[in-house]
Amino acid sequence: MKADVVVVGAGPAGSATALRLARAGWDVLLLERERVPRYKVCGGGVTRKALAELPFDPADVLECAPTRARVSVRSGTPIEIDVGEVAAWTVMRDRFDARIAEEAVRAGARLMDGCRAIGIRDGLLQTDHGAIHARAIVGADGAPSRIAAALGLRPAARQTPAIEAEVEVDPRRVAEWRNVVLFDFDATPMGYGWIFPKADHLSIGLCSLHDKLPGLRERTRAYIAQVLSGEPFQVRSLVGHVLPVGGPVGPVHQGNVLLVGDAAGLVDPFLGEGIAYALRSARLAAEAIDRFLRGEAADLTPYSVAIAELHEREFRWADRLGRIVFRHTTLADRLAFRNRYLAALFVGVLTGDRSYRRFVLDCWRAPHRLLAGYFSLGIASNR
Ligand SMILES: Cc1cc2nc3c(=O)[nH]c(=O)nc-3n(C[C@H](O)[C@H](O)[C@H](O)COP(=O)(O)OP(=O)(O)OC[C@H]3O[C@@H](n4cnc5c(N)ncnc54)[C@H](O)[C@@H]3O)c2cc1C
Repeated sequence: MKADVVVVGAGPAGSATALRLARAGWDVLLLERERVPRYKVCGGGVTRKALAELPFDPADVLECAPTRARVSVRSGTPIEIDVGEVAAWTVMRDRFDARIAEEAVRAGARLMDGCRAIGIRDGLLQTDHGAIHARAIVGADGAPSRIAAALGLRPAARQTPAIEAEVEVDPRRVAEWRNVVLFDFDATPMGYGWIFPKADHLSIGLCSLHDKLPGLRERTRAYIAQVLSGEPFQVRSLVGHVLPVGGPVGPVHQGNVLLVGDAAGLVDPFLGEGIAYALRSARLAAEAIDRFLRGEAADLTPYSVAIAELHEREFRWADRLGRIVFRHTTLADRLAFRNRYLAALFVGVLTGDRSYRRFVLDCWRAPHRLLAGYFSLGIASNR
């Protein structure tokens, strides 16, 4: 088999890379080991920043559009922040991911699902359906990545645990949550628990961005019972996976092969957001490959440089923020979560109006606003 570009993995990173390169006129083969659509464990929170990276309108696969965030910490009463706009939507990943793959196929990419990549030998991608010759290879195979391992690259500084359950509850409960997301900093050490609303159920999960979490499944079942306050519920699925966080610690390309999304270790170490960076890296990868194939760039180094810059702007600062907030949650609650000015600044991180780096710098830039933020506030005390 031959193609200009072969992309391994039809998650958001792989399908968006395939879509962009197919639109640029290249012959693209998109491989996926499972059948599309496939289930993917995920909270399914998709920020405005993420959607801005999609080169088409995915309105038909968006489930809920919450405008309120409930933040819960050990020390005080939970607070509810009325964001006043939709900063993030929710999706079911099987539909969302399949929609991007469908768009890639519409642009001319060839999707081969049920095909597993095994490794790279003599410059050829080896699969369980034979070897593929391509001028460029994209590892979009998630975490842990077989393609990264084949190249000897170790993109993520660390792999941390996350688990998510699709939970059926009374339809009245579903309706109550339709407009709200919960971030619960009591739920787990060095991380948080969440409830994200879906059209007909709730996504409830736990993640730890800096730690191991022993007994994750039991812990999650207990957490679901606790957070639903004894109401009846049914767990449709309960699946754990790793989050490759801490940013890429080295180059994310070698020769004519590059890594995107989770395979490149691109998960935000504060919130665990990965879809936005999967889509961002897809755009950057497609640009670098396009220039390389046209002979306008000698190699794929510009992609590794762009990802290193992204790491500096986003992950390095998100990591620092996470260490402070998760270690000193009570202090963060008193000094930050209840401050309207800071809440508004942080919404800018979700919408993509400001990077994590800019967020941290802006926090100190206007002390009078910071102070005023403690006293005004459309942040209503919830209970
Ligand atoms: C519990 C949990 C909750 C999360 N919640 C959120 C959230 O709310 N919002 C958010 O932004 N991020 C969230 N994330 C992170 C997010 O899921 C990932 O960052 C995102 O899926 C990365 O996309 P990707 O395309 O890089 O990888 P993936 O979505 O993992 O896609 C990789 C694809 O490659 C395929 N593949 C793997 N190996 C091979 C192979 N050898 N050959 C062929 N195909 C292969 C896989 O089947 C898969 O389809 C969460 C993660 C977890 C674990």
